[in-house]
Amino acid sequence: MGDVLVYIEPLAKDDGARMLAFARPLADALGGDLVALVVGEGSGAVAIGVADVVLEIAHPALISYVPEAHQHVVLAAIASRSPSLVLFENTTVGIDLAAWAAAASNLPLVSYCVALESDGTQMTTTSEIYGGQLLASARTTLPAVVAMNSGALPDEPASLGRGERATLAPPVALDHLRTTFVETRLPADTGIDITKAQLLVCVGRGIGGADNLSTAEDLAAALGAEIAASRPVVDSGWLPKARQVGKSGLTVKPRLYLTLGVSGAPEHQEGMRDSELIIAVNKDPGAAIFNIAHYGAVADLFDVAEALTELLAT
Ligand SMILES: Cc1cc2nc3c(=O)[nH]c(=O)nc-3n(C[C@H](O)[C@H](O)[C@H](O)COP(=O)(O)OP(=O)(O)OC[C@H]3O[C@@H](n4cnc5c(N)ncnc54)[C@H](O)[C@@H]3O)c2cc1C
Repeated sequence: MGDVLVYIEPLAKDDGARMLAFARPLADALGGDLVALVVGEGSGAVAIGVADVVLEIAHPALISYVPEAHQHVVLAAIASRSPSLVLFENTTVGIDLAAWAAAASNLPLVSYCVALESDGTQMTTTSEIYGGQLLASARTTLPAVVAMNSGALPDEPASLGRGERATLAPPVALDHLRTTFVETRLPADTGIDITKAQLLVCVGRGIGGADNLSTAEDLAAALGAEIAASRPVVDSGWLPKARQVGKSGLTVKPRLYLTLGVSGAPEHQEGMRDSELIIAVNKDPGAAIFNIAHYGAVADLFDVAEALTELLAT
């Protein structure tokens, strides 16, 4: 007990550096080891410098990411170390695994976490809900599983750990998986590259449906801008994936980023917050997008878009 186990995502761009930097002082405060779980083809390069123990596991079933396989590995790691805290990054992969790890180990789960303190017996956490419009505090008895929001992780490098390497024996379940990785394919080339556009009009769920897109498209045409989209717009099939901005989409830095009916969830902000000029239109004055917008209109997007299009036409 007292250990902090961190799952390092195999495809994490930073090899888990920010997760480990967050976890290092926690492990020190709890008087346990910082244990980095490096699975399959994941890189342990950063972990060796920061963690006390780098728990490595290799198996043919772990060469490509298969959720079912990683679930069994996480469970085996929890069983072998009995950590006080099991930490994941709150990504698409992390959320899947954290929920499964908590359920399978009968541990409480706190997700969308942006702050965590612990005295070793309990932890106090703050989580973002409704895309950051509310902050929820919780007190949870350890051991527990936590999924940390990427935006809450420190950029500063962590202090050094012992860097011992240990091998986790592959659980038998890896030989009997019900899911087999077949291949990854790039989606068909749409010819759209919003990362190169200087002006973007981004459509959010507030647009209400594919039938209403013409309002945004008319404004984009009048501005000479490309259309971008938030994830729900893409998930609903209103616009193609190539136009999605955010954590699971593209990162853009245009001269102008004009949002219509985008709430400004952290995952969306991650892909556009460095835009030179952000203008937001949202009928909710409390929308998080206004926290980062340079100019904002609390208004109906259809009124604003139509008026702007008309103005630009004259
Ligand atoms: C792992 C993970 C990855 C994610 N990746 C992404 C990502 O890459 N990109 C992304 O965008 N999201 C991503 N999300 C989802 C993200 O959390 C939000 O759910 C999403 O960004 C919300 O999209 P939205 O702002 O369009 O919709 P909503 O949050 O539903 O907001 C719609 C907004 O429109 C406003 N509105 C409604 N009608 C009108 C009107 N007539 N006029 C003006 N305003 C109006 C509302 O007030 C509201 O603020 C991810 C989530 C997770 C968990």
